[in-house]
Amino acid sequence: MAFRFRVKILVVSALFFPASLLPAQDGAFGDAGASGILERTRQEARVQKSAAAESVRRARGSAGCALAPGTSAVRTIREKSFVLERLADEPGAGAARYEIHIPVRFVKHPKLSAPDDYQDKMTALAARCYDEAAPAMRGPDGERLHISLDLTGAKTPGLAPQEIKVFGGYAWVPFSQWTVDYNCPTIVHETMHLLGLPDVYPMTRERYEIDATGKWVRWLTEEQARDLAPNRRKQMPRYCRPLGPVDSLLYDQYESYRAVGLPLSKADYLWVRRNECPRRQRSDPDPGKYLHCTEMLGAPADAEPTAAALGAFNVLGLGREGAAEKKSLFYPNEVHVLLYDASCDEKAGIFGRCIANSDRTVDETCLPYPAECSNGSFDWLTK
Ligand SMILES: [Zn+2]
Repeated sequence: MAFRFRVKILVVSALFFPASLLPAQDGAFGDAGASGILERTRQEARVQKSAAAESVRRARGSAGCALAPGTSAVRTIREKSFVLERLADEPGAGAARYEIHIPVRFVKHPKLSAPDDYQDKMTALAARCYDEAAPAMRGPDGERLHISLDLTGAKTPGLAPQEIKVFGGYAWVPFSQWTVDYNCPTIVHETMHLLGLPDVYPMTRERYEIDATGKWVRWLTEEQARDLAPNRRKQMPRYCRPLGPVDSLLYDQYESYRAVGLPLSKADYLWVRRNECPRRQRSDPDPGKYLHCTEMLGAPADAEPTAAALGAFNVLGLGREGAAEKKSLFYPNEVHVLLYDASCDEKAGIFGRCIANSDRTVDETCLPYPAECSNGSFDWLTK
């Protein structure tokens, strides 16, 4: 586990897991984004119901907490606000359908280079990724979710947009900064942060170097740390965050995509790179993909896949053998917290009390944990 995680940090995250694993420039973790103070709006009033109706909803569980078809509400999770719209039911479809509108503004990155059409590129990429992920965005009762970014405010009146600094290529950045070269698993993972959902992977206590101004320079081995002056080295703090399963979207987006059988494209290539070539099955008549895989493993660790290698890789369908074990990218209670209010839905309430610890360090003291996220339990996500 430790080895695996370290490999992920050093190889994959450098390019594709940017800020979620790396210290922000002040050495603190968490969203350095400019979400600002988000206002509550008139729309929120629409969801306020009478006390009598509330008690009925409590008694009936999450189904009774759902918005009525054709209505919307502002939802706020960890100070991130978005508009949840329940679409009209489709005749005979059965399951409730929701559109999640996130108020966002793309701005050019102040330091990193960005293509002139960065806004169009980022918008198109996000929309394509959300459409692609939609069939796997399901709740425990079959609820169907679809995400869209609201760049004009038309769908999210009164909500301050979350500002995302856009660039091209790859860099180590806080997670409110997006590249037009993201792959879909990563963009969907980062989008979950815009909705207030926190990471659930364990934090290792890596040592790192800082410059004279306190900015992060590089990760250090124990040996390198010993050679540095004490004022030039730091160590990641111990975090209180509750953890989730490795195939959670908020733990490892690639594992989560693999688990539901969504295409990974470039991410697939990286997954094979950081793991191993799939074993050749006796029944498989195509030795080409194993040869190709061996070739990839021989390439430098930080090499970008060439278009030809990626094309061949996707045609061969490498790395997807274990796919489609899960029906949804979400664990059940992630959907509960996105769709239902904690005052009405018990599971959303437990989830909220667990994630109150997500950005806290042991030094700040952890808040009391509900049993569902105590001692490494994943029940707060899965049950
Ligand atoms: Zn993250």
